[in-house]
Amino acid sequence: MVSTFLAAVLFADQPKPAASPSPRTPLAAFRSLVEGNARFVSNLAEGPHRDAETRRVVAGGQTPHTIVVTCADSRLSPELIFDQGLGDLFVVRVAGNIVDTHALASMEYAAEHLGARLVLVLGHERCGAVAAACDAYAKSSGHDHTTGAKHDANDEHANLSALLHAIFPAVGEATELHSKNSAVSVLDGAIQANVNRTILTSYEKSPMLRRMALTGDVQFLGGVYDLDSGHADLWEAPAPKSGFVRVHEGTAPAKADH
Ligand SMILES: [Zn+2]
Repeated sequence: MVSTFLAAVLFADQPKPAASPSPRTPLAAFRSLVEGNARFVSNLAEGPHRDAETRRVVAGGQTPHTIVVTCADSRLSPELIFDQGLGDLFVVRVAGNIVDTHALASMEYAAEHLGARLVLVLGHERCGAVAAACDAYAKSSGHDHTTGAKHDANDEHANLSALLHAIFPAVGEATELHSKNSAVSVLDGAIQANVNRTILTSYEKSPMLRRMALTGDVQFLGGVYDLDSGHADLWEAPAPKSGFVRVHEGTAPAKADH
């Protein structure tokens, strides 16, 4: 089902943004991402905004149109897969595309001070971090499924363990939904659930982003990137409905069939 937001993009008669200044509305930013990804998939990437003149202009100030929160995986550099250039995207990357205080502060800075109007949380197919979280969750056999990892100053894997624990709620949700008689694997379900949880964590932990999402000053999108085809499947995230947002309960948002 195509949402109102996406339908407006698909049928809007607007100028092509690739050679235009950075888009200043959520709609125009979304269109730029979709069109750039289509060029990338078709092997028709233009590599816009990478010339010396753009470099000179953005050196004096940045106005990225979109905040991208995505995995650190080397195969999905946002500027490449969305065919964007210098100054177009404000990118926050960490394995498993989760957000903590520092990531949220980065997002808030880009939204408040740089004028970014779109926030895309992008997971990806065969994500190693989510896969490791699935394995660790299964091996824990119902024990220690909390999000807080034990602290041990001499444990060389303590940081990784903390990251996997942060993904456990998405794995638990996917395990419940997809472990039996489901066409969707637990891993694929966890990848999508993890994207939705990162969006809702942003609403829950950032009063600024929650307010901006409520007023429409920023629009959140979720997405999953296909490593094989290069296609980024994007969907519109529901805005927070009130001042307090419960963590995702398991109903996936409608996907865009663009
Ligand atoms: Zn990943």
